[in-house]
Amino acid sequence: MNADLHSHSTASDGLLLPADLVRRAKANGVELLALTDHDEIRGLPEARAAAAACGLPFLNGVEISVSWGDDLTLHIVGLGIDDTCSELVAGLARVRDGRDGRAQRMAGELDKVGIHGAYPGALKYAGNPALISRSHFARYIVEIGLVKDTKSVFDHWLAKGKPGYVAHPWATMDEAVDWVHKAGGLAVIAHPGRYRASRRELRRIFTAFKALGGDAIEVLSGTQSDADNRELAKMAREFGFLASRASDFHGPGESWIDIGKMPPLPEGLTPVWSKLV
Ligand code: AMP
Ligand code: MN
Ligand code: MN
Ligand code: MN
Repeated sequence: MNADLHSHSTASDGLLLPADLVRRAKANGVELLALTDHDEIRGLPEARAAAAACGLPFLNGVEISVSWGDDLTLHIVGLGIDDTCSELVAGLARVRDGRDGRAQRMAGELDKVGIHGAYPGALKYAGNPALISRSHFARYIVEIGLVKDTKSVFDHWLAKGKPGYVAHPWATMDEAVDWVHKAGGLAVIAHPGRYRASRRELRRIFTAFKALGGDAIEVLSGTQSDADNRELAKMAREFGFLASRASDFHGPGESWIDIGKMPPLPEGLTPVWSKLV
């Protein structure tokens, strides 16, 4: 099945409106789609309606920002969530609330290295109500001509250890898994190959996630290398995680892979969607 269970709209840092994202997924042959905006669920009603209108099976989703250890940020995707669940709604609101102060601190750091006006500049690219993310800063820095693409902005200014990066306390792993489960969904570790974690640290993350009742990992992510994908297939089997398949599409020209264009899941894995549809 061409399931694509990780994507973004203008409700967070994607470039397409929820309905346009759904139509692109349908046109690309997606057979089951989840919209998973960062810490945000307000795009879901529009996406659901568009999916129903074009006959595309759809799952409510969210990608929750989580702090792990000293200064590692993990992303936990919730799939098949009830987007009216009060614990989930309140938890996400708290996580979103932290973003504005963080953005102002980021702008302060960027100012020190000669990039001025980054807060209002980034805000222009965020939606309304604004969910401001590093992607919006990246678009502003491309706009003012310092580098030609957003990936280069991360390399120079926004990745951990670069001048515009600020540490930030997100949700805990425990909270994120709990909110997703209270909302009746399955919890999935997003793009495990992307974290700057040693093999040992990744095993610690998986062990903690499993102990909390975490359900699945993204074995296939559009943001991971083929080697990562193969390694994660092994780890999913070893830890007994369900397997997800996820482009992490953000928009034309700003993503590693287009929506619905992932390879099939490797053999010997249980697809997470087998528990969701
Ligand atoms: P934030 O939640 O504000 O920290 O922003 C995280 C988002 O920034 C991710 O979801 C990606 O969309 C984007 N991002 C992170 N690292 C990179 C990178 N190296 N290149 C391009 N986009 C990135
Ligand atoms: Mn993003
Ligand atoms: Mn992510
Ligand atoms: Mn994502």
